[in-house]
Amino acid sequence: MRLALISFHGCPVARLGEKDTGGMNVYVLNLANELGSLGHHVDVFTRYHDVQDPKIVELSLNVRVVHLDGGPISERKEDLGIHTTDFAANLHEFISEEAIEYDLVHSHYWLSGKIAAEISRTCNVPHVATFHTLAKTKLRARAGEKETSHRANIELEIMQSSHSLLVLTEKEKEDIRELYDIPARNIEVIPAGVDTNRFNVEDKITSRNHIGIADRETLLYVGRIEPIKGLDILFDALKTLSHSRDLQLVVVGGSLSGDKELKALMEKAETLGISDLIDFRGSVEQSDLKYYYSAADIFVLPSHYESFGLVALEAMACGTPVVASRVGGIPSFLDDGNVGYLIPWRCPEPFADKIEILLENHDLRKYMGKSAALKADQMNWSGIARQVVGLYGSAIEEYGLKEAV
Ligand code: UDP
Repeated sequence: MRLALISFHGCPVARLGEKDTGGMNVYVLNLANELGSLGHHVDVFTRYHDVQDPKIVELSLNVRVVHLDGGPISERKEDLGIHTTDFAANLHEFISEEAIEYDLVHSHYWLSGKIAAEISRTCNVPHVATFHTLAKTKLRARAGEKETSHRANIELEIMQSSHSLLVLTEKEKEDIRELYDIPARNIEVIPAGVDTNRFNVEDKITSRNHIGIADRETLLYVGRIEPIKGLDILFDALKTLSHSRDLQLVVVGGSLSGDKELKALMEKAETLGISDLIDFRGSVEQSDLKYYYSAADIFVLPSHYESFGLVALEAMACGTPVVASRVGGIPSFLDDGNVGYLIPWRCPEPFADKIEILLENHDLRKYMGKSAALKADQMNWSGIARQVVGLYGSAIEEYGLKEAV
């Protein structure tokens, strides 16, 4: 197959863990690479996000990333909507110049969905849409004050015009049915995968030495630094735990130079008197993360909302049990009581309780870590990409049948 993946604002080669780069970038990167290794030809279209970006990056076998103009590089994500038309025109021009005939276009996020809907119409190709996050779900979780009814209306248009919706969890399918009134038969659930070549179990002491942390009870958070991730809840839990335990929290993500959110968190830690227990690392290259996950006794994810929560799955792949909020996509792969614990969101007390139970019980941690690694292994990317190929094949076939009528 010849496939166009559109990820307008989420460049697969951007540095991860900073303001607007996270799970979606990783998803697109891994999916594209796996599709390429299965012999499909993939172009990932994204906007220039850095002046240094070359127009075309040969990412891996059969896979290219193509940067196109789509508004000023410095434009904030919230203001990108006005540039999708220009981006679609540039994409069109690229397709004509290269005389490529794609079999299918797969969009990521609503902004890309708008662009793909246009390309689908003008180039006569089926469109598979994946939203990663939805305006109405975020609003319901009171986690997306920035999300607008304009965005929700466009999401609905994309849902109605696309040929198939690929969602990552049953929960997302339910949300689309309930909140947008879209029939279930158009929605296919295929979870995100985890790169088990990149994320696997490393020795704990070696990992602690490698990343330079003390050999004591260790909690780890990895992810973007923003209020939606609920780090304030974790800090409250840490404060409670610090009375009875000698432990440290390593926080990976954000930019150590002038990140407003990170600064606010450091101030909160100061106010709570727990600064000494927290090691803020800023964002870390993904290739180094397995040492962080392996160094930790427990991975913690206190989010108020999480469309999938890849970091929890990565920690599991490294054999680390997880304590996370019962929100969004997390319960779809985190089997409560077997690979870690799910806790009600915004509740520091149960968070502290479950962390304490795990810290107290070495055998339980070991058992859960093993189960976690096994579960993650079942979700490795090569298996997931094959399922996506199946979905693409059906979408192309159904589109062809409709066109023939
Ligand atoms: N990540 C990284 N370096 C960092 C922080 C995060 O490589 O310093 C990666 C991490 O490995 C994961 C992704 O960014 O694959 C975050 O995805 P997740 O789904 O957890 O969160 P999102 O950003 O989508 O909210």
